[in-house]
Amino acid sequence: MTPHRADDATINARPVIHWFRRDLRLTDNLALAAALETGAPVIPLFIFDPAILHSKRVGAPRVAFMRSALASLDASLRRHGSALLVRHGDPRRVLPALVEATGAQGLYFNRDYSPFARRRDAEVARALPIPTHSFDDMLLVPPGEATKSDGDPYTVFTAFQRKWLTIPKPCPVAPASQSGAFDRLASVDSPGLPTLADLGFDTAIETPDASEDSAHQLLARFLSGPIYEYDSGRNRLGADPDRDPTPGSSFLSPYFRFGILSIREAYEAAQAAHGQAGDARARKAVETWISELAWREFYTHILFHFPQVKTGNFRRAYDSVPWRRAPADLQAWQEGRTGYPVVDAAMRQLAQTGWMPNRARMIVASFLTKDLLIDWREGELHFMQHLIDGDLAANNGGWQWAAGTGTDAQPYFRIFNPILQGQRFDPEGVYIRRWVPELGDVPATQVHTPWASGHLPAGYPPPVVAHAFARERALAAFAAARERRPA
Ligand SMILES: Cc1cc2nc3c(=O)[nH]c(=O)nc-3n(C[C@H](O)[C@H](O)[C@H](O)COP(=O)(O)OP(=O)(O)OC[C@H]3O[C@@H](n4cnc5c(N)ncnc54)[C@H](O)[C@@H]3O)c2cc1C
Repeated sequence: MTPHRADDATINARPVIHWFRRDLRLTDNLALAAALETGAPVIPLFIFDPAILHSKRVGAPRVAFMRSALASLDASLRRHGSALLVRHGDPRRVLPALVEATGAQGLYFNRDYSPFARRRDAEVARALPIPTHSFDDMLLVPPGEATKSDGDPYTVFTAFQRKWLTIPKPCPVAPASQSGAFDRLASVDSPGLPTLADLGFDTAIETPDASEDSAHQLLARFLSGPIYEYDSGRNRLGADPDRDPTPGSSFLSPYFRFGILSIREAYEAAQAAHGQAGDARARKAVETWISELAWREFYTHILFHFPQVKTGNFRRAYDSVPWRRAPADLQAWQEGRTGYPVVDAAMRQLAQTGWMPNRARMIVASFLTKDLLIDWREGELHFMQHLIDGDLAANNGGWQWAAGTGTDAQPYFRIFNPILQGQRFDPEGVYIRRWVPELGDVPATQVHTPWASGHLPAGYPPPVVAHAFARERALAAFAAARERRPA
């Protein structure tokens, strides 16, 4: 671990501290802009908290991506004559010590709505002798601001979205007013970031560039065309494997996860794209993309209002579903060796890249919870350990949706058929062949059912379970749980 001196921030006047967390950017950052506006020198700080870093829900791919985002942030800060001050430890102890060492007069940060972060931030505020200033930066509409007329939170997405759409959205902070303000970043004598190995991680995954520039390029690429085809493009698994892992969607989720791209900027750009859409179909596609941003906000609100979903079913009716304890089946799913090609392709894409498209996430989540009847919490944990965009709210929401236990869940009797899903969303088998080399020579007519010819390609397993049997088993298990305790 890199040693740091307590006095490595060279401060001329009583400074303020901006504590970076899920807002790893300089552009359109509300708390940072407010800190700069005070006129005091601003110390840019990041804290590696061992409680987060060494949680079993955190994996090397996401830490590698985050470290790359921090390196890029540090480089940007150095261009402004500053640097990222890095600390290791529990923020409840690190921050009071830093305040004492620097004589800081205020702490600025953007709110994180997860139960863990809310508790920590309240304790930090109590532990500090100086005021803390927090801002709603992560969402367009913060929790509590999209509620029913009686103040209760929405638990059905369509109703939430109807309300969400009517609420005025904040504009990005004007860049011109910020550029001069960056001169007020404190000069910090920081030795630089710890390596991934220093942090106790190692990964063979090559994570995408995590800079603000890359996020802006991805947004520009998406707005230059794919957004107008988003309705169909987002589901095309194997559209153009040589160009991009998912040409049909934005690939911005890891950037939103760490706040490398401002949600206000993305929303404003989407609104502009809506205005420039050539016809009603293109306009509708942009609206669908904006509704995905609303899903992100919906799940964050759900976790805020119902923190118990972190570990339990939203619908308690399913508490008695007899999930199978089946370690070999779970392992086959994790390793992409279920014998169902589209499931295996997606799980191998996850293992090799730390990411997979939404359609693939839905297919593999349905397969684990319905075909294998394995508890959604196993899949949710595996995703958190491997996804570079792993986000408690979105991931939990996605898993509970697929399992049928969530707020706005698909009904338990809708069970994805992994063969039909493959045929529909990867008709030529392009996606499958890309990630499952054993099926590289299998023609499109057989690539979704390689067992059907009677000769499985070398090294590829037979189906771990027959879908028709598994479907009936899941229907019976869910129906019995509902009978015991109606939804
Ligand atoms: C089982 C399961 C687990 C998931 N786990 C995560 C997760 O850990 N982190 C995560 O960011 N998303 C998660 N999602 C949602 C979704 O799959 C990803 O956000 C999306 O695939 C990211 O690709 P994109 O950036 O190209 O998205 P786009 O299609 O371009 O959408 C734009 C943005 O909207 C948000 N978004 C899109 N779909 C959803 C959704 N269904 N729920 C919430 N937000 C959404 C994301 O921030 C995304 O970047 C999960 C979905 C499922 C079914």
